[in-house]
Parts: sequence; structure tokens; C-alpha cells
Amino acid sequence: MAKKVLVIGEVRDGELRNVSFEAVAAGKMVANGGEVVGVLLGENVSGLAESLIQYGADRVVTVNHADLKTYTTDAYQQALLQVFDVESPEGVVLGHTAMGKDVSPRLAMKLNAGLVSDAVAVEMDGGEPVFTRPIYSGKAFEKKKINEGVVFATIRPNNIAAFEQDTKRTGDVSTITVDIKDLRTTIRDVVKKATGGVDLSEANVIVAGGRGVKSADGFKPLQDLADLLGGAVGASRGACDAEYCDYGLQIGQTGKVVTPDLYFAIGISGAIQHLAGMSNSKVIVAINKDPEAPIFEVADYGIVGDLFEIVPLLTEELRNV
Ligand code: FAD
Repeated sequence: MAKKVLVIGEVRDGELRNVSFEAVAAGKMVANGGEVVGVLLGENVSGLAESLIQYGADRVVTVNHADLKTYTTDAYQQALLQVFDVESPEGVVLGHTAMGKDVSPRLAMKLNAGLVSDAVAVEMDGGEPVFTRPIYSGKAFEKKKINEGVVFATIRPNNIAAFEQDTKRTGDVSTITVDIKDLRTTIRDVVKKATGGVDLSEANVIVAGGRGVKSADGFKPLQDLADLLGGAVGASRGACDAEYCDYGLQIGQTGKVVTPDLYFAIGISGAIQHLAGMSNSKVIVAINKDPEAPIFEVADYGIVGDLFEIVPLLTEELRNV
């Protein structure tokens, strides 16, 4: 059945995150020939509407309000429920990001909708969307279909390909005025940690280090490799616990879940909790001096040896390519 699907874009530092465009592609599948309406919330986001249309949205609704400048559960929930009242969607899609994970269950509950979270693929079965999502920390996948009511889904970043940008595509942009009141929380200030340029959860290349890196200084060759490849540095919890790096870099069951095209696991043993965050990466390269390290079981390419010799050599070779 053709559906009207709302795709909630995610704005960070005045720019749309890539997952917003991936959500449009997923929304197009769910809509099954129906309308895909982008929704943008923020203090002044109307200027971003065009790019959502160029990536496939049929039209965009913007909501500009000072209380939406930075995400808070309360303000976004209130605003989005008012958008839903106006638009009456039959489907809702957004990224499985910190925002998506927080707001989607609340909205789905208010809409009395079934929610599929963390979908990595969508296919159609008899005109209805079927979502694939990882379970048991990525050891298996399940397929889920919502049989009645609004179809609500969050999608994991970097899994569903966005459409090519078409700068000639046009569509309507309208604004909905919302009333936001009785906020229980407001953001007074955001203090950011300097973690380098590339966002870990959306990086195409990740160079991750573990306890084998041995010190904060030991991460420098990994940073050089990441910089060369336009990637981001990540870490195991072992490295974070040892205070070699910030917990913001932790990948795994209790850290970030990532799906880059290329993942380097360097001086990381491959504990099940680490694999939970990276085993769906498209190509995994492991560097470890222990040939029995479990990381080699999930690696596409393995190098047995001392990371302090191998990483600089690899960086040098790649620099000359
Ligand atoms: P280690 O297991 O100590 O491995 C270090 C590796 O470095 C070894 O394989 C060693 O051979 C290699 N090495 C050493 N020196 C060199 C060298 N010079 N050259 C090459 N290789 C070298 N872990 C996570 O990563 N993410 C999580 O989200 C996470 N969540 C957890 C949640 C729970 C509830 C629990 C109980 C644990 C969790 N853990 C998590 C911890 C996890 O179990 C492991 O302890 C951790 O992943 C180990 O980190 P590591 O591989 O860096 O360290």
C-alpha cells in the first residue's frame, strides 16, 4: 500500500547529518510510491530543506523555534507530535542516532505505532516494508514487519545507501508553527570535546586501537593513518579504561555501533563486547601480535606482528599509492 511517510532529518552544527539522506532512501521504500515528507527541526533550518529534496524527499516541512536549537527530548517530542497532528503520517523514518534512539519510542507510543529500531535494510513484501535488524549483539539478524497502524522505524547510519544528489529536483517547503511549553529541561550551553574532524558513527574508515597500543602517545600512528584515509580514530574499552583515549571513542556493546566501509582493529583482542559494535563493518583489517587473537575470526585481512612496526609502514606505503 502507498503510504505518506515522514522522514525526520537530523541537524548538527547547522548541517544535515548523512543519516538524514539515508533515511529519505529508506522512507521512499516504506512509502511504496506514496509521498515522502522531510521534517526539519531547529532554530533556523529552512535553508537546509532544499538538500533533503535533492536527496529524494517530495516536500519538506520545517519547524523553527528557539527551543529546538539543540535537541532535548521534551521540546522535540512536543514539536514532532504537533507535526504529526498536521500531517497524519502512515510511516515515520529517522536515524538510529542518540536522538533517534531517545525520541522514537516516545513518539511511537503516542501514535500507537509499531516501532522497528536499528534497521540495517528494508525490502518490500506484498507492498509492505520488511526491516532487517541485528539481534544478540550482531550475532544474528531478524526480519520484522509491522502489520497494522503507523510503520515507525529507525535506521542504523551507514547501512542504507542514500540516493545520488539531484540538484535539479524541486519540491514544496512549508513551515509549521508549534507551541512548546512547560519544558522540564533546557540546554544552557554545549561544551564540546575536541575529538578530530570526522564523526565516528558516520565515518567510512575507522582506525581503532586497543590496549595493545599501550599509551596515549601510541595512538599517534593510528591518527596518522586515519588522517591519511580521511577516517576517524576509535578505540576498544580496554584502551579507554587504560586512559589512553576518551570514552567518546569507545566502540562496542557499551560504546558506539559503527558500520564503516573499512575498519582497522589494531592491538584489539576481539572480545565479544567489542565485536558487537563493529562486526558488521564491510571490510575488517586486524593487526595483532597474537595469531590466536579472536579478532582474526571476524577479520577479512589479518596481519600478525607488532603494531608499532606495521602501522607506520602501512601508512607510508599508502601515502605512496
Ligand atoms: P585486550 O583484550 O587486553 O587486548 C589487547 C590486544 O593487543 C591483545 O590481543 C594483544 O595480543 C594485542 N597486542 C599487544 N601488544 C601488541 C603489539 N605491540 N602489536 C600488536 N598487537 C598487540 N569492550 C569494548 O571494546 N567495547 C565495549 O563496548 C565493551 N563493553 C563491555 C561491556 C561489558 C558489560 C563488559 C563486561 C565488557 C565490555 N567490554 C567492552 C570489554 C571487553 O570485554 C574487553 O575487555 C575489551 O574489549 C578488551 O580491550 P582490548 O582488546 O583493547 O584489550
